[in-house]
Amino acid sequence: MRTEYVSMTEDSIDLKAIERAGSILKDGGLVAFPTETVYGLGGDALNPQSSMKIYAAKGRPSDNPLIVHICRIEDLYEIVREVPEEARRLADAFWPGPMTMIFYKSGRVPYETTGGLETVAVRFPSNKIAKALIEAGGGFVAAPSANRSGRPSPTMAQYCREDLDGRVEMIIDGGQVGIGLESSIIDLTDKKPTILRPGYITKEMFESVVGGVDVDHTIIDPSSKEVPKAPGMKYRHYAPKGDLTIVEGEREKVVNYINEKTAQARSRGEKTGVICTDETKDRYNADAVKSVGTRKDEETVAHELFHVLREFDDENVTVMYSESFDSEGIGMAIMNRLKKAAGQQIVRL
Ligand code: AMP
Ligand code: MG
Repeated sequence: MRTEYVSMTEDSIDLKAIERAGSILKDGGLVAFPTETVYGLGGDALNPQSSMKIYAAKGRPSDNPLIVHICRIEDLYEIVREVPEEARRLADAFWPGPMTMIFYKSGRVPYETTGGLETVAVRFPSNKIAKALIEAGGGFVAAPSANRSGRPSPTMAQYCREDLDGRVEMIIDGGQVGIGLESSIIDLTDKKPTILRPGYITKEMFESVVGGVDVDHTIIDPSSKEVPKAPGMKYRHYAPKGDLTIVEGEREKVVNYINEKTAQARSRGEKTGVICTDETKDRYNADAVKSVGTRKDEETVAHELFHVLREFDDENVTVMYSESFDSEGIGMAIMNRLKKAAGQQIVRL
């Protein structure tokens, strides 16, 4: 298959290209597109064949359900059995935006899209290109992140090209995404709303709208034997090609430890990398030292993390060490992704 490339911005949407993209979706094809979180790989959510194609293009296990993206709040009622009061309040507060809610699905949503589950994940994104595409494609677009399964989620179109060229009909380049981490997922099918995947919308933000919120404890304790409620959370993810270790502890000790370890690795002939912040980037002497942003504003870290992991791959770095982050606020999402990328390898000093 030849992949068509188009490029546009939110302020200047190429309506002709969106119309073509919409026809591709309606005909059962796939289009990668920007959202405010990461790039998505879209197919018609109500067409079982489209969902099968998404799994195949990503190399994703088909028990890992897809998120259905909508562009009008009233369309929610078409695909779910009921909308609890809490969901209405959360939608008012955070949609359109980086929040996914889990509901019981209606008969219109095929099991291929939900990985065989009775529940469906739904998100109403705010990115204008995404909204235009969803509307042109019929209103219901299943879209996981637009990477090959296991790789870091793409924050730029060039990474979609790396992973999906020749596997999808079209890739829409809308520039670097705003947030850089996938949506927060909150389950509303249980007695108490439960966060299944941390993201930009934090526990504190959810609680300000609906009171008490639980966090699926496999997120907090990944060594737990329990199966995460979001099936995708059990898979190794975001993994760079090299070996990544997170180092936790007091700043000076962390810097010294990482310098010692990278020097040793280098003398063995490894190409070394460090993930750090603006505050410490001048302190390291590895082959590739990359700041992911500043500790004064962890949103900058969220924005750069996947990008930096991909850069290490492009530069063939074989051994990496990363500083650790707070697990408060958006830090919970950052650490969740970083730990997965490191295959849970953490050194505590
Ligand atoms: P991605 O689309 O790559 O961001 O991954 C989607 C995430 O949503 C995965 O972790 C899925 O397991 C999760 N997910 C999708 N649908 C459901 C559902 N019905 N119940 C629980 N988790 C879901
Ligand atoms: Mg993904």
